[in-house]
Formats: sequence, C-alpha cells, structure tokens
Amino acid sequence: MSFTSICFLVFLAPTVLSIGTLCSNRSETSRIAAWNACNELELFLGPLVQSSGAMYEAAATNAWNLQNTEYKPTCIVFPRTAAHVQTAMVAIYTAESHYAVQAGSHSAMKGWNTVQDGVLIIFSNMKNVSYDAVKDSIVLEPGIHWEEAITALEPYGVAPVGGRVGGVGTGLFLGGGLSWLSPSQGYAADTFRELDVVLVTGELVTATATNEYSDLFRALKGGGNRFGIVTRYEVEPVHTGTKDNKSFFGGTIIYNSSAEALLKATARFVRDVDDPKAVLLASFINMFVEDELVPIYLVWPFYSGPELPTNIFGDFLSIPAVSSQLGPLSYFDVAGTLGLGDDRGYVQHFGASALVGDDDLFLDAFDHWNNFSVVYKDNFNTTTLAFTPVPDSQIQAGRAKGGNIISPPRGGFAAVQIYETFRAGINDIPQNVQQAIDVLFEQIPPSPGLPLYLNECDSQQEVFQSYGEYELLKNTYSKYDPGRFNVRHTQGPLGL
Ligand SMILES: Cc1cc2nc3c(=O)[nH]c(=O)nc-3n(C[C@H](O)[C@H](O)[C@H](O)COP(=O)(O)OP(=O)(O)OC[C@H]3O[C@@H](n4cnc5c(N)ncnc54)[C@H](O)[C@@H]3O)c2cc1C
Repeated sequence: MSFTSICFLVFLAPTVLSIGTLCSNRSETSRIAAWNACNELELFLGPLVQSSGAMYEAAATNAWNLQNTEYKPTCIVFPRTAAHVQTAMVAIYTAESHYAVQAGSHSAMKGWNTVQDGVLIIFSNMKNVSYDAVKDSIVLEPGIHWEEAITALEPYGVAPVGGRVGGVGTGLFLGGGLSWLSPSQGYAADTFRELDVVLVTGELVTATATNEYSDLFRALKGGGNRFGIVTRYEVEPVHTGTKDNKSFFGGTIIYNSSAEALLKATARFVRDVDDPKAVLLASFINMFVEDELVPIYLVWPFYSGPELPTNIFGDFLSIPAVSSQLGPLSYFDVAGTLGLGDDRGYVQHFGASALVGDDDLFLDAFDHWNNFSVVYKDNFNTTTLAFTPVPDSQIQAGRAKGGNIISPPRGGFAAVQIYETFRAGINDIPQNVQQAIDVLFEQIPPSPGLPLYLNECDSQQEVFQSYGEYELLKNTYSKYDPGRFNVRHTQGPLGL
C-alpha cells in the first residue's frame, strides 16, 4: 500500500480512526509525520522511495548489528544525487519526521543507522570513487565501502586514510576514523579537503577549512551524524603504491596464551613508540565454544619499511605464538588483512575507553574484562578487548592539517574497544548484561583527559563530553541546527 493510500485512509476515515486519537500519543504523531514525509517524497522521487517489496526488505534488514535490522522504517529513500538528499531533508524537516542515515551499515549502536516510524536514507546508489591526479585528490560518495574504494584506487597507487576492515563504510570518517595509515596521517577525518553537506533544512553547502563553513568542516571531524548529511567527501590521498609495491612489512601473529606478556608489550608500545611508520592493533578475544572459553590473542603489526624493527616490535616477536604470518606487503595487502567484517545475524555491542600509563592499567583492564566475559559467557559467541595505539605523531599530523574536534592532548594513548558478539537467538542485550557492561566501563575508565572514540562507543557513553573541543562542538551545533531538529529526530551521540 502506498503512502498516499495509507494517509488517505487515515485522514478520510475519521469515524473509523479519529486523527485526535492518533495524535494523542507520541508514536502515533511520529507515524503520521513519517507518512506525510514519505507521501511527499513518493511524489517527488518516485521509485527512489520504497515502503515495501524486495528492495525495501533488503535495505531495512541490511544493518550489520542484528538489533538494527528489526526496525521498520516507514519508507526508505535511495538517493542518486545530493539534490535527492536535499529533497528528502526538506520533506523530513517540514513534516517533522524522524529519520536516519545509513552508509556502510556497520554502526554497532542500536538505532543510529535506522529508524522506526521515520524515513531511512540509504546510500546504496551513491558509491562512486575517483582520483584526480591533477588536483591529487580523492572523491568518495558516501555509499562506498573501504574495500571497494581501495580496490578502485590501487591502480593509481593511492589510497584514502580509511578503515581497517573492508565492509565498513564512510560513516567511519564522521567519528574520526582509525586507519593503518593514521600514525603518519592523523585520523581519517584529518584528511578532509572539502565536504558537501545537506544541512537539516535541506540546504546544500560545501565546507572547507577556510571558507565560511570552516566551523562545520571541523565539527564533522568527529561530530558523527549530528551536523548534516555528507554527500561528497574530497580527501587527501596517501601515495601508498600499487599492488606490486611491497613497501610495508607485517601481518598477523596469533597467540593462545601469554596475556600478561602481550599486555605489557602493548602498554609499552602505547607509552614509548612514536614512529609514524609503525602501526599496531592488539585484540584479546575470548571465544566460547560449547561453554569452553578459548582465548585467542591477535596482534597485527605493520611497518612502512623492509622489516619490523625489533626496537619497536621485539616484545611481540619474542612471545611464543601459535602462528606468525609476516612478510613484505603492499598497502593493498595491508588493507585486506582483516577481511570484510561482513558477518551478520548477531547482536553486536561496542564500548570505549582510552588508556595510557603503566603496565598495571592494561593488566587491570584485562582482568575486569576477562571476569565479565566468564561470568556472562552464556550470552556470548565472543568478547574482545582491543587496543589501537594513537601515537603522538597521529595527533600532531591532525593538528598540522588544521585540527579536529576530538582534539586529544599531546602524547600517545590507546583507543580501547570493548566488544561483544551475542549468541544466535539473543535479539537484544539482556538487562543484567547491559548493567554489567556499565560496571565494566566504570572499572576501565579513560585515563584523565583522553577522548573516547565515537566509532567504538556504547550509545549511552558521553563521548562528545570527552573531546578537547567540546565547547566548540556545542556552539557549532547550535549554529547549524538551532531548533535541535537532529537531536530530537535522529538517534546518535549524546551531549549536544
Ligand atoms: C567490523 C568492524 C570493523 C571496524 N573497523 C574500524 C576501523 O578499523 N577503524 C575505525 O575507525 N572504525 C572501525 N569500525 C567502526 C566504524 O568506523 C563505525 O561503526 C562507523 O560508524 C561505520 O560506518 P558505516 O558507514 O559502515 O556505518 P553506518 O552504520 O552506515 O553509519 C555510521 C553512523 O554514521 C552516520 N552516517 C553515515 N554516513 C553518513 C553521512 N554521509 N552523513 C551523515 N551521517 C552519516 C550514520 O547515520 C550512523 O550514525 C569498525 C566497525 C566494525 C563493525
């Protein structure tokens, strides 16, 4: 049934269904607002708007986190151009409808990339990527995934500073973005050159570091989905070389024990290593196989050079491993190491902390996380505690490019990800587990002054408050959305 006919029924059958009754509670008000927006959009955008059928179903259930596949958007808009996004936002804003935006679909946060009784804008028709050698610039449309972008750009010998997992999308930019290239280049968002943004009213603006929208430009480097819808990212490329250019060295090391030694090595790396050519991800995973806890600890070390220097990676290399696959790699190989990360069908949950300090801090974090994993094991396929070192070189690179809104203090730290994949059959996070997760956040608090990472947070964590430029973020939000439409009508980070 089309929106026209639904609204026709609702509005022309007052004896059966009174509008007064409908509007008497908030969800009915939302439903009517969404119907009105969808009705309008159907008239203007025709088949680019779907409210049922195969295209609708595939898009509505596309989200990576199972929780986000259970929402039923009133309609889904599949824009092909920024003008279509403008049309959508004008209708949404005028009707005061709820809405959501989905790019690569990998948000772990419940409700951030979909909507109940609202309009979902999904970017599956906007997936172009191009490289302009004269300008030395990469342009990405928001629907592309990192594996697609890196594959398309490899023949030119360039890469964007993008995600470490291929199936993730460009939403990564708006939370900052931690890349294998970050130690030398900054957060992925630090590479922004120009952003086309559809503001909440439907107005399309182009923001750069120096034009009248420079405040918006900065806010989008960490401000998530609160400031508008980005329809075009122009970013600085990194000249990483083609597939034949094996200028990196590294790979995957797998351990099944030695947590203490690995945590000490990680803590030391975070404290002491500040070489922009060195990058590391350390993931401590508890797998639960038929109630048995199987620990698997994975370290991914990479160096832009012919070998892994022992003064940087020696601690990890000397710990007995069950498997070590290291060798010369192109950046294309490095970017493919973690695969697509497209496994769907489970409730997924992220949480964030940020640490720097002595070994005990990392050992304590592990103990709390491990205890939590064991006590609540019946709920999980896996639990993960992952450390991404953010070295001072990354912070300096970001500042040299104009700075971002996250604005971490100088000196390195580790972005800490606390991550659970729930068992099949669990469709929402049980209350007692969420309470235990909240306790875990109190047990592993961020070291003083460090920012939490938006892309790896729990939806209730006060990430913005932890930013170095929180006041500027709030002021910029008030300027671009004075009616607080986005806070009221789309789910996303707290604190504005
Ligand atoms: C398997 C996996 C691996 C990951 N690896 C990394 C990693 O290596 N580095 C890292 O930094 N992060 C990583 N992340 C976190 C990831 O960056 C975030 O989940 C990110 O938000 C995903 O972006 P997306 O486009 O895939 O998701 P989506 O769910 O589509 O979007 C994420 C958020 O951004 C908003 N959004 C998306 N596009 C736009 C737009 N154009 N305009 C306005 N708002 C928009 C959405 O509304 C949503 O709130 C990973 C996540 C997963 C699940």
